[in-house]
Amino acid sequence: QKFKMGLAKTRDSFTSKVNDLVARYRKVDEDFFEELEELLLQADVGFETVMELMDKLRFEVQRKNIKDTEGIQAIISEKLVEIYEAGEENITELNMQPNGELTVILFVGVNGVGKTTTIGKLAHRLKSEGKSVVLAAGDTFRAGAIDQLQVWGDRVGCEVIKQSEGSDPAAVIYDAIAAAKKRGADVLICDTAGRLQNKVNLMKELEKVHRVISREIPDAPHEVLLALDATTGQNALVQAQTFKEATNVTGIVLTKLDGTAKGGIVLAIRNKLHIPVKFVGLGEKMDDLQPFDAERYVYGLFA
Ligand code: GDP
Repeated sequence: QKFKMGLAKTRDSFTSKVNDLVARYRKVDEDFFEELEELLLQADVGFETVMELMDKLRFEVQRKNIKDTEGIQAIISEKLVEIYEAGEENITELNMQPNGELTVILFVGVNGVGKTTTIGKLAHRLKSEGKSVVLAAGDTFRAGAIDQLQVWGDRVGCEVIKQSEGSDPAAVIYDAIAAAKKRGADVLICDTAGRLQNKVNLMKELEKVHRVISREIPDAPHEVLLALDATTGQNALVQAQTFKEATNVTGIVLTKLDGTAKGGIVLAIRNKLHIPVKFVGLGEKMDDLQPFDAERYVYGLFA
């Protein structure tokens, strides 16, 4: 239900246009395909994915000798899911350590994309699964970032390990690991600074944080989650590329999917970056974070 509501904007614009197209054309022909292709591109599905989809559609239409456009939406959905799930494993679950061992999750992303909010929501989600969660205020760069994380910590009921603004993020995270271990916590979620203006600094900082974490816990961080803002469309893809070069991103959280009519970006991200989208943000509240499910997503678009 949440999923459906969160996709309302995309559905209203994209789906109604597809439905119009289907009603207008009635017959499947080259012009129909071309207009459909245009609609998919407008929804930010991404060039490669659109081309792959069009090939599959043409093939299916020929194979099944489909003449009418009626019901073609179902075939589009089916093929989109097929493309999304092809090749790689569709891992949306977090890489959690066995009971009694600390799982470390590192969050990266540019300021303003919804990183802090997502950390709060994920902490809430894990807590409601019975896990104890500690937060590390590793964004010591942006004014207000530490306080903002503390607000979420209070809201969700998690301890926040922090130092003063401007202190070394690696030191904060080192402290946080020690604190989380001491308290026997299940999960430590670490915030980091999102200053993309200086790629070299960003890389250095993330490298150092990474090094500190894996020195304390050999396989950690167990997840490096990149928060991307769905409303920034293709820009999100550019950001992702930069972070991919700076650190070993294991999953993406696509935020503000409720705020865009171009929800097709999910498909583009997966297809282009080969990093699984693990969660999507569908609102500003604590429980507006959902695990990503390709089937529910695609069928939700046409529901
Ligand atoms: P940060 O700078 O990356 O830490 O971003 P914040 O967590 O401060 O979020 C920036 C703004 O985006 C805030 O106003 C959030 O409430 C809002 N936000 C975050 N996630 C979502 C989402 O999934 N949907 C919507 N509609 N707003 C969101």
